[in-house]
Amino acid sequence: MALKLFNTLTRSVENFSPLNPNENKVGMYCCGPTVYDYAHIGNWRTFVFADLVRRTLEFSGYDVQHVMNITDIEDKIIKRVRENKTTLREFTGKFETAFLDDLKALNCKEPHVKPRATEYIAEIISLIEKLISRGIAYKAADGSVYFSITKYQGCGCNYGQLLKLNFDEMRAGERVSSDEYEKESVADFALWKAHVPEDGDIFWPSPFGEGRPGWHIECSAMSMKVLGESFDLHLGGEDLKFPHHEDEIAQSEGATGKPFVKHWLHGAHLLVEGKKMSKSMGNYFTLRDLLEKGHTGREVRYLLLTSHYRETFNFTLDGLAGAKTALARIDECVGKLREIAGNATAAPESKLQEQFSAALADDLNISAAWGEIFKWVTETNKRLAENSLSSQVAAANLAAWEKIDSVLGIGVKMETEVPAEISALADERTAAKKAKDFKRSDAIRDELKAKGWVIEDTPKGIKLKKI
Ligand code: AMP
Ligand code: ZN
Repeated sequence: MALKLFNTLTRSVENFSPLNPNENKVGMYCCGPTVYDYAHIGNWRTFVFADLVRRTLEFSGYDVQHVMNITDIEDKIIKRVRENKTTLREFTGKFETAFLDDLKALNCKEPHVKPRATEYIAEIISLIEKLISRGIAYKAADGSVYFSITKYQGCGCNYGQLLKLNFDEMRAGERVSSDEYEKESVADFALWKAHVPEDGDIFWPSPFGEGRPGWHIECSAMSMKVLGESFDLHLGGEDLKFPHHEDEIAQSEGATGKPFVKHWLHGAHLLVEGKKMSKSMGNYFTLRDLLEKGHTGREVRYLLLTSHYRETFNFTLDGLAGAKTALARIDECVGKLREIAGNATAAPESKLQEQFSAALADDLNISAAWGEIFKWVTETNKRLAENSLSSQVAAANLAAWEKIDSVLGIGVKMETEVPAEISALADERTAAKKAKDFKRSDAIRDELKAKGWVIEDTPKGIKLKKI
């Protein structure tokens, strides 16, 4: 089934196809974290979305080259390095490691290439040189190099491909040197920022003088170096459309004269309890905050995967509690299928897989995909209750679930390991029951319950479950 995805460039849902239709390779670049702090739950929505896109492409048979940069030089980073009286590498290294740990906790596949901006300075400089030689970039009186939007447009290029920009209504600033700026100002933006005393020892030599790159040029240089001057797919959160991605297009197309990216995907933002996250409102969560509260990466991943990527998602702690319940339903169903399937193997049951694939192929319609999964859980539970599943059918259902889970990445919780003390008590209860000492066996059941375990008698013997 053809995979359909929304393309921000054309503002429409399109059949996805790679640049080279004869190959099944997809080059995918996702703007990575700015490593100046722990990533918050909003950032994680975007990275889990990128992981879903990658897994969906792989599920559809594509060989994906997933690139995610690490922004380790940028305005906010320099400010924090100065405030913390530390070195750039020491500071960014700590948050990069934390980011990769969190990525694992959320079961996101690790990108194949994770370029750090500080390791691509030569590529950045040569890209800026190309833009200068084409007359699209210039050195200003402040010693920095800027991208000229007017000169770029003069070459017949279109500035405003991702967002319709109304130049007449916008405040035309002369130039902006900061990495992040507002939509209201369409202004020449910095490619290379001349060294200023506040930057301390964070600068590199260049033909334009000592300085450091702007944020936007970093992504153009890294993505084109790893994936080529034109590549298939570029992702990020919706806030990056402008100016970051618009500037990436301008820099790249301005330098190469070729279309930069075929397909742009943007994920909508996440709100917490209906509001924009802010530390002062107390609704600002990192993944670590949530893990400390006793939630799991799996629950957070599940919750982030319940809404469509183009819709704003309202993250709530109640939602996380709901995620736990939903996952428990899946775990129980899959656990029972495992028991019945035993060692049997079978080809995946096709209905579930087909319905799931169709939902996902429809611009990642994840709500419909979950709908199919929970319908399947209900039907399977019914058949389990009727005892009407053979080990072959159970194995086929299990195989279908495993295929689907290669996209969802939520896995299934294995039975919790039973501590020795608990299993000793369970054995004692079995012996008491055998000896018809029901008073004792009931007392042990209560004791187990008090310790957080329920004991179930099944045709295959007892089963212990954590409450
Ligand atoms: P940053 O580390 O600030 O460069 O952001 C990393 C990614 O997180 C970018 O793709 C942003 O678009 C995305 N992002 C930032 N805030 C949110 C949010 N509240 N919801 C979803 N994505 C976000
Ligand atoms: Zn970027």
